[in-house]
Amino acid sequence: MKRYRVKPGAKVSLRDYDPDDTGDYKDRAQAEQDLAGDLARMADLQERLYAENQRALLVVLQAMDAGGKDGTVKHVFSGVNPAGCEVTSFQAPSGEEADHDYLWRVYRAVPRRGNIGIFNRSHYEDVLAVRVRKLAPKPVWRRRYDQINRFEQLLVENGTTIVKFYLHISKAEQKKRLAERLANPNKSWKFSETDLHDREHWAEYQEAYEDALHLCSSEWAPWYIVPANHKWYRNLVVARTIVQLLKDMDPRPPRPKIDVSKVSL
Ligand code: ATP
Ligand code: MG
Repeated sequence: MKRYRVKPGAKVSLRDYDPDDTGDYKDRAQAEQDLAGDLARMADLQERLYAENQRALLVVLQAMDAGGKDGTVKHVFSGVNPAGCEVTSFQAPSGEEADHDYLWRVYRAVPRRGNIGIFNRSHYEDVLAVRVRKLAPKPVWRRRYDQINRFEQLLVENGTTIVKFYLHISKAEQKKRLAERLANPNKSWKFSETDLHDREHWAEYQEAYEDALHLCSSEWAPWYIVPANHKWYRNLVVARTIVQLLKDMDPRPPRPKIDVSKVSL
């Protein structure tokens, strides 16, 4: 999955990334079979992370509307114990959030030790939506790339592993998904005016994403560009990357407080 990782400092041109890419997989069946194996490994590793209770994993999900953030949460984390999992969805800041700096609400949502935290949208909205919708002047959002890098470094140095996924869909795929959303009464509630506005500004968003991916893929908190037109491949890439990260973290349950060999029940 390393091929999807953005090298620190590398310029990103999203045109060079094929949203239809399915890597070494030709069809869905094999990918789903492999995904099942990865989910089982993830469940086991999460249990150990939870038991160790020393470190946390933060998974950041960003995408254009209908890019598949919700689907990824649903499918990739279906096997983990909800007790050790925290999902935070970030909307436009309001009330108390808007009364603080943009990272305040983000810091509060960082997963506690032992947990996996999932950000459905994140502080990156503050250099994406804010930039494209002109919610802040350029000098304000321009400084944020550097601030975000330093913020993420602080988290990593204090025991939070960070991985960031940009789910890359094509404009045509978005159209298809938004049309499905409109036609399906169980999904049409998700549709909003801003979806249309953001779609009209597709090119500007791609540019803003390119800058975020380029300027904020660090050694300590890398970005992955996930081909996401095929949901089954997207799920596999995200799951596989997380399993590898958890393996590298190698969480270990603490030693029992008593000599278990001496316990007789
Ligand atoms: P879906 O992709 O399924 O539509 P969603 O993530 O778009 O889900 P919504 O509740 O529809 O969820 O939208 C959240 C909105 O909040 C998005 O339009 C996003 O750009 C906006 N948002 C999030 N954070 C910020 C921010 N810091 N500043 C401005 N807008 C933000
Ligand atoms: Mg939306």
